[in-house]
Amino acid sequence: MSKIIVLMGAPGAGKGTQARLLQERRGLPQISTGDMFRALLKTQTPLAEELRPILATGALVPDDLTIRIVRERTGQPDCLGGYILDGFPRTTAQAEMLEKIAVEQGNEIGAILVDVPFEILEKRMTGRRSCPVCGEIYNVYFKPPKMDNVCDLHPDVQLNHRADDNAETSKVRLETYEQQTQPLLDYYNATERLHRVDGTRDVEPIYNDIEKIVTGGR
Ligand code: AMP
Repeated sequence: MSKIIVLMGAPGAGKGTQARLLQERRGLPQISTGDMFRALLKTQTPLAEELRPILATGALVPDDLTIRIVRERTGQPDCLGGYILDGFPRTTAQAEMLEKIAVEQGNEIGAILVDVPFEILEKRMTGRRSCPVCGEIYNVYFKPPKMDNVCDLHPDVQLNHRADDNAETSKVRLETYEQQTQPLLDYYNATERLHRVDGTRDVEPIYNDIEKIVTGGR
């Protein structure tokens, strides 16, 4: 049976970095609803205009739309052998829908929490920068690029600062996580599908723990 890996953790916990590594090293498609919404913002459509204020404030996109894009994306052929969800599910309705999608696809679900205390998360979010070319993620406090605001590998491009990584939006995103998404941890825990990894360490030891869980030690 192939597996749906639900990577959980507050915004700034490092889920995206870990999901990208799993994709690179294990060939598992990384499906980030946040990335998909940000890509949609760039299209000149009414949907982009609908999404813009939601993402700008750090609130959640309505469940029906979110579920629709996940169902669509995970139905693609590259997802047949399993995939990683980064940033989905975030609400009980989304988690319930994922159970149905998993049954339809013949997949089983495993959840991994990248656990980081709230005090550290705010700095991680406001300090985050990424390379628009290769997607490499930096942090001005914890992992600065060699030269100010440019990628180590692409020195001719300026790093991106996500519009929703400012202090005010970060606070809303953390509160939204606490209220809406944290209850899902209890849900996966109660059904014995929740694994926890200590997300305060460097990227590699966290990755090693996650990889062991994903491959079942194989
Ligand atoms: P992320 O990159 O995962 O932090 O997501 C960025 C933003 O996209 C969030 O603050 C939400 O506005 C929206 N978003 C991402 N995933 C979801 C989801 N599963 N449900 C609702 N909104 C989402």
